[in-house]
Amino acid sequence: MQDKLDQLKARLARISDLRRAASVLSWDQETHMPPGGVQARAEHLGTLRGLAHELFITDEVGMLLDDLQPYAEQLPYDSDEASLIRVMRREYDKAVRVPVAWVEQNARTTSLAHHTWVQAKNRNQFSLFQDDLARVVDLQKQWAEYFAPYDNIYDPLLDRYERSLDTAQVSAVFAGMKPALVELVQAIAERADAVDDSLLRRPLDAQRQLAFGQVLSARLGYDYQRGRLDVSAHPFTSGFSPGDVRITTLVDPDNFFRCVKSSIHEAGHAMHGQNLKPSLFRTGLDWGAGMAIGESQSRFYENIIGRSRAFWAYFLPTMKAIFAPLLDDVALEPFYRAINKVEPSLIRVKADEVTYGLHIVLRFELEDDLLNGRVAVADLPQEWNARMEAYLGIVPPTDTDGVLQDVHWSSGMFGYFPDYQLGSLFAVQLWEAMQRDLPAISGDIAAGRFEGVLGWLREHVMQHGRKFTLPELSERVTGVPLSWEPYVHYVREKMGEIYGF
Ligand SMILES: [Zn+2]
Repeated sequence: MQDKLDQLKARLARISDLRRAASVLSWDQETHMPPGGVQARAEHLGTLRGLAHELFITDEVGMLLDDLQPYAEQLPYDSDEASLIRVMRREYDKAVRVPVAWVEQNARTTSLAHHTWVQAKNRNQFSLFQDDLARVVDLQKQWAEYFAPYDNIYDPLLDRYERSLDTAQVSAVFAGMKPALVELVQAIAERADAVDDSLLRRPLDAQRQLAFGQVLSARLGYDYQRGRLDVSAHPFTSGFSPGDVRITTLVDPDNFFRCVKSSIHEAGHAMHGQNLKPSLFRTGLDWGAGMAIGESQSRFYENIIGRSRAFWAYFLPTMKAIFAPLLDDVALEPFYRAINKVEPSLIRVKADEVTYGLHIVLRFELEDDLLNGRVAVADLPQEWNARMEAYLGIVPPTDTDGVLQDVHWSSGMFGYFPDYQLGSLFAVQLWEAMQRDLPAISGDIAAGRFEGVLGWLREHVMQHGRKFTLPELSERVTGVPLSWEPYVHYVREKMGEIYGF
């Protein structure tokens, strides 16, 4: 049996190499490639990704997985070998259902749709994007059909980004969370003047913003011997091996905290990649976890650590020194309050910890309605605006600030948005479990000792790669299922203290 396992691993290693090589090309495209490279790069990526897909869906891989099934069933469920066979079996059974023709058609359609989305967004004209978006939506519906029967056509799409997650589960979680957040936003709106965040809008030098992002990420445990920081319009993390996980961040001249939080967020993703168990590398369990598990790590660092009083008690002097003399007069309390200001806003990526969840609920409900035919593509702008008014009390003045703001739909990424918020919820559950295991952890953070946080996350989450689903990991680490309640409790307590209710 060891021989068959070795054969499977050898095949998966080659597939992993092709995917990693494609990731290097994508990273280059987003950071350093000249505009003239776009066309050829699309071909390079198409070829590499196509080859990886072809190698994976061969009969030989299927037969090896068949042969190894009885062996996997004798092993402990959480062993590396059983997990590898279990997860790859599922991936394989899904991959073979999707015709190569669909993959090619989807690549072409989304490539064009991305182009028209950029134009429509720049010109504030949804109609420019509408027909292409309709084609993208049709392709996603077609893709879902390859996985029929399903309870909800949205289920296969959700499963694409976080396996085993379905519409009913997400609906149940969001149904509990939504009214609590709406109520909290209203309570805070009545005390909106209690927090002043104008100090965040002091114009600060871009190079110093980057330098500070580098200091923060390094102190948290992101290893620059195995990574690097660059600038991109949309921050992201790319991992090629545990020895090379790179991050990008953005610089916003109007709000330096955006660079801070992006740097910390991406460092969270990157530490996840750097702390993978080495033996999982090149096995197929190493492509990062599901999207919600991945976001739980980045949001843990961004929100629970990076927006905490303890963290800034330690880092405020460093921040002042780096930006001296422009922040010399800033004290801890006003700064802590400023970075936690809750304010309904139009743009998801700029949202605070409370309203962010409502931005996600809006997209989740709209995607569900769209795929089920309850909302037509042409009606999206009006639907978007009506729901923004209902949940956040504001109406976007333009579609650029509304339905056109996110890149995801042009790329066919329906089913992705919920994972951002599920990651935020799970992060709070992890924080509660961490505090139980490490009662002195807040004191450690305030003293600039971050090894305990990283060590705990490594042991319980990061090292496992893709071995476990989100529900499995939640049960293993916290002893309870994924739940919205700890998150709502956390933001209510935190904002209650800041806003005085
Ligand atoms: Zn992220």
